[in-house]
Amino acid sequence: MDEKLAQLKAKLGEIQDISGAIALLSWDQTTYMPEQGAPARGRQMALLSRLSQEMQIDPEIGRLLDELEKGGDQWAADSDEAALIKVARRTYERAIRIPPEFLASFTEHTAVSYQAWAKARPENDFAAVAPYLEKTLDYSRQIADFFPGYDHIADPLIDFSDYGMKAESIRTLFAELRQELVPLVEAITEKEPADNSCLHKHYPEKKQLDFGMDLVRQYGFDMKRGRMDLTHHPFMTKFSLGDVRITTRVDEHNLADNLFSLLHECGHALYELGIDSGFERSPLNTGTSAGVHESQSRLWENIVGRSRAFWEYQYPKLQAVFPEQLGDVTLDQYYRAINKVQRSLIRTEADEVTYNLHVMIRFDLELQMLEGTLAIKDLPDAWHARYQSDLGLVAPDDSDGCLQDVHWYAGVIGGSFQGYTLGNVMGSLFYDAALNAQPSIPQDIAAGNYQPLHQWLISNIYRHGQKYTADELIERVTGGPLTIKPYINYLSQKFGDLYDLV
Ligand code: ZN
Repeated sequence: MDEKLAQLKAKLGEIQDISGAIALLSWDQTTYMPEQGAPARGRQMALLSRLSQEMQIDPEIGRLLDELEKGGDQWAADSDEAALIKVARRTYERAIRIPPEFLASFTEHTAVSYQAWAKARPENDFAAVAPYLEKTLDYSRQIADFFPGYDHIADPLIDFSDYGMKAESIRTLFAELRQELVPLVEAITEKEPADNSCLHKHYPEKKQLDFGMDLVRQYGFDMKRGRMDLTHHPFMTKFSLGDVRITTRVDEHNLADNLFSLLHECGHALYELGIDSGFERSPLNTGTSAGVHESQSRLWENIVGRSRAFWEYQYPKLQAVFPEQLGDVTLDQYYRAINKVQRSLIRTEADEVTYNLHVMIRFDLELQMLEGTLAIKDLPDAWHARYQSDLGLVAPDDSDGCLQDVHWYAGVIGGSFQGYTLGNVMGSLFYDAALNAQPSIPQDIAAGNYQPLHQWLISNIYRHGQKYTADELIERVTGGPLTIKPYINYLSQKFGDLYDLV
């Protein structure tokens, strides 16, 4: 059996190496590649993706898994070996059920669809992308049907990013959350709006980057195992445990944009960097779900990075870097500015409280499109209607309406948004568990010491990689199932204080 497991690991290791190479090509494409490099880069990435796909569906992997599963009692249910076999089986089943010709044609379609969207959004031309979206919906339904036996057609698609979650359970969770959030947003927006003009003075790029990277290093981002570069849409990527990269963008008239993007991507990176080194070159060597990943980016960005305790220590340092801009702005004014709540049209610019309402709109519309109760041609109107009812705002056009997010235009329809809100909910859940175990964490943060929290997260969440599913991880860490309570408490307390709500 050990011999068979070694053979399986060798095969899976090669697949991981190719994934790392694809990720590197893709990182370069969005950071340093000159424009004219695009056609060759497209070919190179397509070739590597095809090779990777062929390796993933190698029948030898199926045979090895069959034999290992038969002789499985050799490894304890909670062992790394048993987890590896389980995760490898899941990945293998996903790969073999989608025919290679289908995958090739879908990949080609998404590339064209993305191009059409990139042109249509600035031109506010939904009609130009509607035919592509029709096709994407058709592909998305077919993908779901490769995994029969689902309760809701979105379930297989949700499984790809948040394994084990179902449309129905997410719908229930979101409904509960909505009930709490809507009155909270109403109460806040009745109050005097926060003034965030101090964030929009002129903040030179180099100083912004130096200060932001200093925070990232203090969080525990290891520069010997990572780096930071500039891009248009910030992201984190990983080539191996020794090379995890973050990106950011700088707006010299918006201090918060780069600062919180860095803290957010750093949270994703800390998760990947914290995975057990024994999982290198295996499918366990990655975060376990979109929701859990986002819980870590949001924990470091919001729960820590937008907290008063954090800035009690860091704000005098920020003022020292920008004396002209912030010299006469008090800590309280700054704290209110970075936590300004307002109803807005754009998801990526939304604050902590309204953010989830944006996600829920997209999640519901996705389900309706997949169910066939919402036709593509009716999407723009349905979008505006939901913004009107949920946020009391209507976008002047589709560019800031259903054309604002790239997701549906560059991938499947289904499963692409719920992770953001699950992440917010899980972030508070995990942070509460950390505080229960180590009540001094808030004082540590107020003293600029992030290591106790970072170490707790490594021991309880990061090191496991994909060994446990999100549900298993939550059960292990909190002793119960996913619940919105800690998140609602967090929001009510923080924003209740900020906006003087009784
Ligand atoms: Zn993120």
